[in-house]
Amino acid sequence: MPRHFAPERTVIQVTAKHPFYTEEHETLRRQARRFVEQEIIPHVDRWEAAGELPRSLHRAAAAAGLLQIGFPEAYGGIEVPDLFYLIVLTEELARAGSGGVIASLMSHGIGTPPIVHAGTHEQKQRFVTPVLAGEKIAALAITEPSGGSDVANLKTRAERDGDHYIVNGSKTFITSGMRADFITTAVRTGGPGMGGISLLVIEGDMPGLSRSPLKKMGWWCSDTATLYFDHVRVPVANRIGPENAGFMAIMMNFNQERIMLAAQAYALACVCYDEALAYARQRETFGKPLIKNQVIRHKLVDMRMRIEAVKAQLEMLAWRVSHRQMPVAEVCMLKNFATMSLEWIANEAMQILGGAGYLQGSKVERIYRETKVLSIGGGSQEIMKDLAARQMGY
Ligand SMILES: Cc1cc2nc3c(=O)[nH]c(=O)nc-3n(C[C@H](O)[C@H](O)[C@H](O)COP(=O)(O)OP(=O)(O)OC[C@H]3O[C@@H](n4cnc5c(N)ncnc54)[C@H](O)[C@@H]3O)c2cc1C
Repeated sequence: MPRHFAPERTVIQVTAKHPFYTEEHETLRRQARRFVEQEIIPHVDRWEAAGELPRSLHRAAAAAGLLQIGFPEAYGGIEVPDLFYLIVLTEELARAGSGGVIASLMSHGIGTPPIVHAGTHEQKQRFVTPVLAGEKIAALAITEPSGGSDVANLKTRAERDGDHYIVNGSKTFITSGMRADFITTAVRTGGPGMGGISLLVIEGDMPGLSRSPLKKMGWWCSDTATLYFDHVRVPVANRIGPENAGFMAIMMNFNQERIMLAAQAYALACVCYDEALAYARQRETFGKPLIKNQVIRHKLVDMRMRIEAVKAQLEMLAWRVSHRQMPVAEVCMLKNFATMSLEWIANEAMQILGGAGYLQGSKVERIYRETKVLSIGGGSQEIMKDLAARQMGY
C-alpha cells in the first residue's frame, strides 16, 4: 500500500448521541488520534525492525494521559466509569496498523491489575505509580515452556527462605519481557493445582534473572522473551496478596484482558476494512474501479457484516462488565468470534489489495501476520470454548 494513501474511517462513526459513547469518550478519541498520528505512525516501521518500542514512547503516552486510563487516581491513574474509554483508546492505537504497539505499550494493562486488586498500598506506590508515569515497564509472566493453557499446573517454584523466596524456573512468550522492570510472576509456593500458586513481583535487575528474545511471526515491535530464574531472591514484601491465593488474582484479570483482546481484533478488522474499501475505490482494473465489480462489493459487505456483529457483541459485553456483571461464557465466545472474524477479514482485505497487500509497509500485511496471536494469547480458542461450555453447564 503506498504511504500517501490515506484511508477513510468508515466503520467507527460514533456521535454524542450514541448510547455508549459520550463527549468525554470523543475527547479522548481526538487526543489519542493526535498522539498516534504524531508519536506512533511516523516511527512504527523503525520499531518493527528494531524489535522493541523505545522507553520514550511510554513516557510520551503517560504525558498524553493514555497509559493511566482505568487505574486509581491515588496511584497516578485516571479513573473512568466504563470500559468504553479503553475501547476508544484501542481503536485509535490500532490506526497505526500494528498490534505489537498495542500489546507492548499496554502490557501494564495485564501486568499491574493483580497488584491494583490484591496488593498493599505500599506495593501499589512502588510498582504501579512509576509504570503509569511511563518511567517503568510492567509485564505479566504466567506461561511456561511446559505449557500456557494449563495455568493451574505451572511449575516455577518459589521456596521460602526467611524474608525471601528463592525462585527457580522459567517463563516464556512474555510480552515486554526483555524490557520489563516489574514482572508480575506466577510461581508455585504450595502443593499441586490452583491452590498452590502465588504472585511475586520480580524486578528486572534482580540477580539470577536472565532473558532471551523470541523472534515471532508478528508483533515484531513487541519484545517477547523467555525468562530464566536461577535462585532469584525475591523479598516476601514483593508477594501480591496472600500466599497460595494467586490463581484467583490471575483469573480476575482474564475477563477484562479478553474483552480488550476482542476490542483489538475488532479495531484491527476496521483498519483492514478501511484499507480495502479505500483501495477498491482507487484501484482500476479492466478500465474501471475495483469496487464496480459485484464480487468485490460483496466481499466488502461480508467484511462489514462481521465487523458490525463483533461491534454489537463487544459493546454489549463491555457495558455489562462495566456494570459489574461477570458474563464469563459470553466473554469467551466474544474473544473467539472477534479473533476469528479478524482472521477472515484480514484475509479478504489482503485479497482485495492483491500484490500491494503482500508488501511490507502495508498495514494489511502486518495485521494479517498478527491475527493468529490473538486467537492463541490470553486463552486460546479451544480453551475459550471449553470454559464457555463449562460455564453454560454442558
Ligand atoms: C506473542 C505472544 C505473546 C504472549 N504474551 C504473554 C504474556 O505476556 N504473558 C504470558 O503469561 N503469556 C503470554 N503468551 C502466552 C499465551 O498466553 C500462550 O501461548 C497461550 O496461553 C497458549 O499456551 P501454549 O502456547 O503453551 O499452548 P498449549 O497450552 O501447549 O496448547 C497448544 C495448543 O493445544 C490446545 N489445547 C491445549 N489444551 C487443550 C485441551 N485440553 N483441549 C483442546 N485443545 C487444547 C491449545 O488451545 C493450543 O492450540 C503470549 C503468547 C504469544 C504467542
